[in-house]
Amino acid sequence: MKKRHPLLEIKNVSKSFCKGSKQSIPVLEHINFEVYDNELVSLLGRSGSGKSTLIRMISGLIEPDFGSIVCNDLAVNGPCRDTSMVFQSFALFPWLTVFNNVAFGLQAAGLNREEIERRTMRMIDLIGLTEYVNAYPKELSGGMRQRVGFARALAVEPKLILLDEPFSALDVFTGQKLRQDLMELWEQHKIATRSMIMVTHSVEEAVMLSDRVCLLTSDPGTITDIFTIDIPRAERTRDNTQDWV
Ligand code: ADP
Ligand code: MG
Repeated sequence: MKKRHPLLEIKNVSKSFCKGSKQSIPVLEHINFEVYDNELVSLLGRSGSGKSTLIRMISGLIEPDFGSIVCNDLAVNGPCRDTSMVFQSFALFPWLTVFNNVAFGLQAAGLNREEIERRTMRMIDLIGLTEYVNAYPKELSGGMRQRVGFARALAVEPKLILLDEPFSALDVFTGQKLRQDLMELWEQHKIATRSMIMVTHSVEEAVMLSDRVCLLTSDPGTITDIFTIDIPRAERTRDNTQDWV
């Protein structure tokens, strides 16, 4: 049988950071990791294990010291058009309205005005913020801000969306509601993006949502490894969101 071709392929990636003095501390060493089309992969690991570093390298925001990252058959070398990120801290542009935050990537891609308007309004409708289209981030609750964060990332229809603890700055109920709404959009195929990497601290969330859970094990100065666990379909409850607490 022909082996599936990965959407994202990380080969032998290493990254160190300089701490204070000249000492260089390895954060990730010899990482190999693949993501396929239509896959939702969770990335677990304790604080400081390098989860954010890994997904920032995938998005092209920072460069690996060694190794290669290929997304959609192109080497990632600087900000990558095939991925978008959703940040824990939302990272919205405070000087832009909801509309202009969501439209940002489409404007940067040079789409015409009608197309920008159509795609932006569709995303804002899907995330339930139509009434807030002209509001500024400071006028919104945390949950609403993160909805804008999702809309901005998804509007450009990236091949792969990178979620860095997207619900952890929200209270439990707001986070659950947003997670549930996002998964409904995903399951109903209302969003074009079909592959996600989600960093989370919640084993429960990872098992509920993912096709695959990857555990990043790393302490400064030790070899990093990724253990992969496939989640059997019966254990995955994302298709069954009404059962969630
Ligand atoms: P996680 O997201 O798993 O909590 P991070 O990827 O944020 O971990 O960080 C991994 C390690 O790398 C930490 O020890 C952190 O202090 C260090 N680190 C991350 N970014 C930088 C940076 N820009 N400069 C120096 N050290 C960094
Ligand atoms: Mg992090």
